[in-house]
Amino acid sequence: MKTLLKFSLAATLAMSAVSVQAEEKFITIGTGGQTGVYYVVGQSICQLVNRDTAKTQIKCNAPSTGASVANLNAIAAHEMDMGIAQSDWQYHAYNGSSSFENKKNDKLRAVFSIHPEPFTVMARADANIATFDDLKGKRVNVGDPGSGTRATMNVILAAKGWTDKVFKVASELKPAEMASVMCDNNLEAITYNVGHPNGALKEAAASCDTKLVPVTGEAIDKLIADHSYYAKAVIPGGLYKGSDDPVETFGVYATLVTSSDVDADKVYAVVKAVFDNFDRFKRLHPAFEHLKAEDMIKNALSAPLHEGAVRYYKERGWIQ
Ligand code: GLU
Repeated sequence: MKTLLKFSLAATLAMSAVSVQAEEKFITIGTGGQTGVYYVVGQSICQLVNRDTAKTQIKCNAPSTGASVANLNAIAAHEMDMGIAQSDWQYHAYNGSSSFENKKNDKLRAVFSIHPEPFTVMARADANIATFDDLKGKRVNVGDPGSGTRATMNVILAAKGWTDKVFKVASELKPAEMASVMCDNNLEAITYNVGHPNGALKEAAASCDTKLVPVTGEAIDKLIADHSYYAKAVIPGGLYKGSDDPVETFGVYATLVTSSDVDADKVYAVVKAVFDNFDRFKRLHPAFEHLKAEDMIKNALSAPLHEGAVRYYKERGWIQ
């Protein structure tokens, strides 16, 4: 009798463990390099989602990845539920344009937009680089494969009628590697399409004499005029040692995207965790400080909103 009771108790416990496990849902958000801002976005979102795991059974994780293009590919391949991607590459992935020609993802869905990402060039102060055109003949990190930086750099080069052959060296180092390589004088400039401030550029500016370089001119003006996802942008002064004045460039927005195949309850849980705790979220990185919910749910999004996001935005009365 005693043994039987023990057995049935153990069996019940084991069964309930199985059923809890069966109900548990995992959500993976693709981010970017660990010294960028996407990584902080993903970690911040998951931190808020995981506060409610006991209630929702949803567990969130946000690994480091190659960033925008890698995340869009991983979502299309069902390897990740969600990811962060630049608004220009969200547009191209949904519409099958630019480098997403023949890779159109009809199932791509927008969740919300996040911080602005100015295309950023930082050069060694001793490299005689005052404008983007001065990068010709120099040793430049053009962005790692899979990154939005690399993809947008290609767009800029094409707009100028250049290729990366104009550089003496066009390296494809990861954001976490590029600062030290430039400060060892193995590169003269690094590029990063990224929110500010970020760890990679802070590290460079703290380790050697650097300055931010404007990205302006006719070709850039034409890019902005021809494409709604590009806009003029300014990197504020005083964020990085050696760059006290604001610097003009152009930029996009970081956006959170997913697939229509992803369960609406998961997307709802993510959106709810962020907007129910919005003040807390905005304190997690200086780039989030000026975020406004009403802009995030409509600006810089090309793919339709995911149904799980729509459910929450309707509940809040933000959309009809
Ligand atoms: N926008 C960058 C990219 O997609 C990533 C920036 C970041 O990690 O914060 O390449």
